[in-house]
Amino acid sequence: MMTRIKICPKCKKPTLKNAVNVSGWLAPDLYECTNCRYIGSLFLEIDPKDLKEKNISFEESSD
Ligand SMILES: [Zn+2]
Repeated sequence: MMTRIKICPKCKKPTLKNAVNVSGWLAPDLYECTNCRYIGSLFLEIDPKDLKEKNISFEESSD
């Protein structure tokens, strides 16, 4: 059983973490991308093996 990875729907990088709201509380339904600063409740979920198959890179986006 493999753990699925949440990836950013914007930059497609596995750099999502749970967002913390302004009062410092963890917002379990919100995710923040440490790469592109995306914040939202949407995310993509993939298998770790798909990370390689889809050739998702950890490199910085040129965007
Ligand atoms: Zn992102």
